Amino acid sequence: MTVIILRIGHRPQRDARVTTHVGLTARALGADGMLLTGRDKDVKESIEQVTRMWGGRFTIEDGVSLKEAVTRWKQNGGKIVHLTMYGINISDALPEINPNENLMIIVGAEKVPPLIYQLADWNIAIGNQPHSEIAALAIFLDRLNQKKGTDPLTQEYFESKLKLIPQLHGKKVINEEE
Ligand code: SAM
Repeated sequence: MTVIILRIGHRPQRDARVTTHVGLTARALGADGMLLTGRDKDVKESIEQVTRMWGGRFTIEDGVSLKEAVTRWKQNGGKIVHLTMYGINISDALPEINPNENLMIIVGAEKVPPLIYQLADWNIAIGNQPHSEIAALAIFLDRLNQKKGTDPLTQEYFESKLKLIPQLHGKKVINEEE
């Protein structure tokens, strides 16, 4: 199963930090990559830099056309989840999701176009209160991982230059390049 995030409505001046955190959260919770509508070289570079140093194969592509990305994904048989407070509750939707199918997860920044609500296979709410795309994505991916029986939170990342040794107190990181 390939899991990619489609981040839409990104405004470079305003959303850079949140979009970077959407990407880093997606990576840390086992997603394979993020597509970003609009261009943002800085966001792309900072996520790529984390992957270079901390390992794994997370990909990021900016300047993606929303319509093209969604249409291509559907044509290739992938399913689409749109995270929105207006959707059905995660607990009701999750049993319908096949963990072996490729999944695109759409999260918004500003107002999400009505088309997305129509194109999504599932509009899913992480509760029906407004909060954050980072929180919504983290909870959705964690629930999906539990369903799949995988736990990226305990996984070792391959080809990492930095290795973190967990400590009860303090910090220990080994830089394999030094
Ligand atoms: N005002 C925007 C709208 O009407 O679509 C939403 C802005 S919200 C800060 C940004 C994103 O966070 C949303 O597009 C959605 O993906 C996510 N989000 C916020 N609360 C959510 C919730 N309760 N459940 C699922 N996703 C949520």
